[in-house]
Amino acid sequence: MKKNKLIILDNGHGGYKDGVYVTAPSKMHVFEDGFTVHEGYFNREVVKKIAFKLASLGIPFINLVPGPEDMPLKDRVVKANELTDQWKGEAIYISVHSNGGKGTGFEVYTSKGQTKSDEIAEFYLEAMAEEFPDKAERRDDSDGDGDKEANFYVLKNTKCPAVLTESFFMDRREDAELMMSYEGMRKIVNAHVKMIERALSGRKEIPVIIPNPDDIRKEKNRKRREAEAKKKSLSSGKK
Ligand SMILES: [Zn+2]
Repeated sequence: MKKNKLIILDNGHGGYKDGVYVTAPSKMHVFEDGFTVHEGYFNREVVKKIAFKLASLGIPFINLVPGPEDMPLKDRVVKANELTDQWKGEAIYISVHSNGGKGTGFEVYTSKGQTKSDEIAEFYLEAMAEEFPDKAERRDDSDGDGDKEANFYVLKNTKCPAVLTESFFMDRREDAELMMSYEGMRKIVNAHVKMIERALSGRKEIPVIIPNPDDIRKEKNRKRREAEAKKKSLSSGKK
């Protein structure tokens, strides 16, 4: 795995500052019994844990918004593009979010058109499906790949390949409980780290070897003759 790219981690929205959720009342969901998901806080927790893992792997990264403030999208992009220039274009932008709208499962967005981001997005879907085989993979295969394409500001305006991940729905109970559980969080973080590792390694093409029926027949005959010869020498030895 090459470690020559800067991983720019962007946690969507705001976090907790002085005991107050700065993005309230939006980007959060309160269930009837009071159970609450604060998306910006969740995003920060995921990014923090991805960063922790990347540091241990020696993969260069930056936590774009390390504090609780909800940095405006424009400022996030300016900062990301400055970093991308410093790294001579060798950067990957990952915006971490969770979904709303009472659906279920996970999905990933890239900017429109076929770009380098599409492969990275595919790695996210693949890794999430490995971690959560029972959860819905929300794909859009109409253009030949599984990511959804949208002109989200951070995707459209970043210079480097960029993806925006939506790991589950904060307003769907079973999704929300999974997101808020240590086990669910661990798997979400794992999937992001796998995506990054695969993006740095590139897709390994595994050659498909189709055996030739002639070779199979020859090999069978060779083994049969060998067995017969063995049998013969054994029986001759007994005499
Ligand atoms: Zn969001």
